[in-house]
Parts: sequence; C-alpha cells; structure tokens
Amino acid sequence: MRLDSRLLLAISLLASLAACTSARPIVFSRTESVPALNSDRHVIVISIDGLRPDAIQRFDAPTLQRLVREGRFSLTAQTIHPSVTLPSHASMMTGVDPDQHGITWNDNRVATRGRVRVPTMLATAHQHGLRTAAVVSKGKFNHLLEPGSVDHFVVPEGDGSWSSDSTVEWVEDVLIADRPNLLFVHLPEPDRYGHLFGWMGYFYGWAVAESDGAVGEILASADEAFGRDGYTVILSADHGGHDRDHGTDDPRSMTIPWIAWGRRVAPAGELTCEIHTMSTAATALWLLGVPIPESYVGQPVLDAFEPVVEPGR
Ligand SMILES: [Zn+2]
Repeated sequence: MRLDSRLLLAISLLASLAACTSARPIVFSRTESVPALNSDRHVIVISIDGLRPDAIQRFDAPTLQRLVREGRFSLTAQTIHPSVTLPSHASMMTGVDPDQHGITWNDNRVATRGRVRVPTMLATAHQHGLRTAAVVSKGKFNHLLEPGSVDHFVVPEGDGSWSSDSTVEWVEDVLIADRPNLLFVHLPEPDRYGHLFGWMGYFYGWAVAESDGAVGEILASADEAFGRDGYTVILSADHGGHDRDHGTDDPRSMTIPWIAWGRRVAPAGELTCEIHTMSTAATALWLLGVPIPESYVGQPVLDAFEPVVEPGR
C-alpha cells in the first residue's frame, strides 16, 4: 500500500504529539479525494475558551488588538444560555440553539449520548466538497465532529485536554500539509485559569497572553499556507466569566468578542449589528459560498465584509 502524504502527516503528528503532551489524540483523516467547490477560499474560526471581550484591552493583548484594529469587531456579541463550553460551541458550530442541536451537557458522553444531531458548519462545508479540519484542546469536542464529516480532526481522547502550545503545533502541520478551506481551532487557557484563579485577575491575564501568542502563531502559519491576503479569520469565544465561574445569564458570562479579519473584511470599525454565537457558522459558510441551511438561527454578519455582487465572492 502506498503511503500518501496524509498518512505520513498523521504519523509525524502523532510522533510530535508524543513529545509535547500526555493527552493522547484521536486523529481522523480523509481517505477519499473530493473535488473542492471553491478551493481558493479559506476561513479560520478561532474560539478562545472563556475570553471576555474587555480582556483584550485590559491585558494589552497585541495580536487580538491588531485584529480589532485591522478588522471589523463587536465587543458585545452574545452567547447562548447556559453559557457553558460544549452547548455554546455546539451553537457556534451548528448555527442553531441548544433545543435544536441537543447538546445540553458539558463533558464527553459520546459513548452514551452520541454526537451532535445536526450538521456542524464543518460537515456542511464538507458535503459541498470543501476541505475541512478542526484542532481542539478538549476531549468533549468529540461530540461535535462526526468522523467522515471532517477531513482532519485532532482532539484529546476521552475528557482529556492539552495546552494551546500543543494545539498550535497541530494547527501548523494541518495548515501547511492540508490547506483546509474551513479550519476550526479551540484554545483553552483563559477558561482554565479563570476557574482556577478568577476571571480578569493576574493569572487570567497570563492566560489571555498565552492565547494571544497562539493566535499570532496561527496567523503566521496561515500566512505561509495561503498568503497574507488569502484567508479570513473569525475570532470569538464560547462565553466570558466572572469570579471563578460562568454559565448563568450574567452579562459578564454571556458577552463575547466577535472579530472578522483578513480577506474580504470591510475597512476597520466596530460592528453595531446584533451578533450572537450562531452567527459564526452562518458567516463561515457564507464566506465559503456554501448555502446556509434553512434550519439556521444564525445569519451571516454581512456588515463585516465588503459589499459583493455574488454571494460568497
Ligand atoms: Zn468554555
């Protein structure tokens, strides 16, 4: 059997992971070749777990501030209630509320509850022949990614987790070797340190800096893979937090950043339209030229982008 480049990539990724983390990954890779719908379009959705929008300025995060300065942004976007990681990311990635996607718990119950019951944006893009990938830092994301709907999926096993350093290493390899049209990345630190030491405190600020550095490394790899103007980034969060927790309808938990940056993004400025986490999936599909499913609650944030004659161009 011929060892193709993807198999070699998987082997090399597994080898590199063994050196950088103790959490064993699950890696799914595509085996068949599907013609791409629009192979020149690339969208990267980055979710920073527990990032409050006011943390970007408070902790002087240089990369996030650059995205705000150069992109179109909202610091008043809203997540779903309950404002917790797995249901919120399910809404971010499926474009629907929890009563439609069905994920109301916040740990890995794949063995007993199965995976998400509606397609994620990755699955929908994949159905249209686009290359899709996801690199996440928590094992509970196994609920959101059906094997076969994502060309390259790297996730901790069980309920494991790893740091953004490990995530970035995987992202760099996937970007260069796989050149996905749609890539989802999840970075974990602000949530982790918020729970341990409190939101907006010293260690939370350190975690924001870690995430900021990770985003910078992802952008550098994306520049290399697609060219500086060859891709669009949507950066957001699943929830905020206060004290040492989140999950309620407190505005400090419900309010999230939403930033569009890069290709096709309109001249810099603050978005005044209503944005919620379901807007992310709709916007990503719209950018890729994929029809938005009728079931979507979320709509594309058109105000963030240059006016176009043909949708998706
Ligand atoms: Zn979270």
